Amino acid sequence: MSFQTFNLDASILKAIQEAGYDQPTPIQTKSIPEIMLNKHVLASAQTGTGKTAAFVLPILDKLTKNRSEGRGPRVLIVSPTRELATQITDSIKKYSRYLRINSITITGGISYGLQNRMFSKPIDILVATPGRLLDLYQQKKINFKGLEVMILDEADRMLDMGFVPDIRKIYNATSKKQQMLMFSATFDPPIQKIAQEFLTNPVTISIKPDVSGHKNIKQLIYFADNQSHKQQMLDHFIKNDEVTQAIIFTATKRMADQLSDQLYHSDIKTSALHGDMSQGSRTKTINRFKRNETKILVATDLASRGIDVKNISHVFNYDMPRFAEDYIHRIGRTGRANNKGIAISLVSPTDREFLRKIERFTNLKIEIASIPGMEATILKEAKAPKRKSKGRSFVKKGKVFKNEANAKKRIRSKPVFGKTNQSAPSR
Ligand code: AMP
Repeated sequence: MSFQTFNLDASILKAIQEAGYDQPTPIQTKSIPEIMLNKHVLASAQTGTGKTAAFVLPILDKLTKNRSEGRGPRVLIVSPTRELATQITDSIKKYSRYLRINSITITGGISYGLQNRMFSKPIDILVATPGRLLDLYQQKKINFKGLEVMILDEADRMLDMGFVPDIRKIYNATSKKQQMLMFSATFDPPIQKIAQEFLTNPVTISIKPDVSGHKNIKQLIYFADNQSHKQQMLDHFIKNDEVTQAIIFTATKRMADQLSDQLYHSDIKTSALHGDMSQGSRTKTINRFKRNETKILVATDLASRGIDVKNISHVFNYDMPRFAEDYIHRIGRTGRANNKGIAISLVSPTDREFLRKIERFTNLKIEIASIPGMEATILKEAKAPKRKSKGRSFVKKGKVFKNEANAKKRIRSKPVFGKTNQSAPSR
């Protein structure tokens, strides 16, 4: 299938071609025709599947084919985080480079002066986070009556973050005649309830948790006894040449700062990224990382969605995420644009419950590995398989060798990430 079959405007097709996209991704194949037919769409797809283009392309087409004289906004895209909002805006810019579309982004960190300037021209597309959007509406600076399409992106996340009441207020301020699109990682009952409230006879499109899209990501678990054990292992990994650029995910902002400080003092170019930072410094941090001026980003889940940097070789889960969906998002920061990636999870006893949830959600048993001499007590205590056990293997440069002899033949130096051991204790 090619993008030509969608009957998109020629200027959009030209931009797609320049972006280097040969063919639509599954979510694009399913969503674009339905959105072009003005249907309400409820779609489950993760970041990394091309879901942004799945709604941006048909919207641009719609805006181009029917011009309007109003002040807009004609399209409203609501995003749970500033980072995702910026990412969506970047995509809009990329795909609309040959169109005359005015797209603006309003998020919590933007100054009121800049915001007022942005509102001085008619707006085609407004990308916004819920808080500031509602603020603007309540100050009567914005009117949603002319809205033609409203998109709720990462609705599951908005639900978790408690944004649904804000969204309801915004929705109630619209004519309710606009086309509604909702994207969510899951279709859990609370999401279905929201969909029933905001969407009319939606077409449901489900792209499974994208473990398939993660085929080029090697996922490994390293059991840890405690925090200092995690740090020891992290040091071991970071010093490795294979780590060209990495994101380390932590559960708390404090831990992100602390780890980033430690790495900085070990002469590693690093930055922290979390919600306590001003919008300006978050953007700077991400841009530096994108330009490869920083090697390691130590971040909270704020960075698990919406960061699209091609050369991230590794993702480390220093702490396991509380939500299984976040695991998918986190590891999807590596292995982008057909590159290979490695996702390493450091699992302490308190993380094990989260690991179980992740494995249930993804229907995956993640491979267990260990660093010789740094094994967790739980692994030392486990009955190690005998010499010829099939389950024992060595990992080097992302490759798993069937047995020790093979590994020794092929690996002259010490195994980079240690050995994998599938006969580890129950998790
Ligand atoms: P998203 O899921 O929207 O975060 O997109 C993930 C990445 O896929 C982005 O880097 C996009 O530029 C890229 N992308 C989107 N659509 C396509 C496509 N049809 N072919 C190749 N890459 C794509």
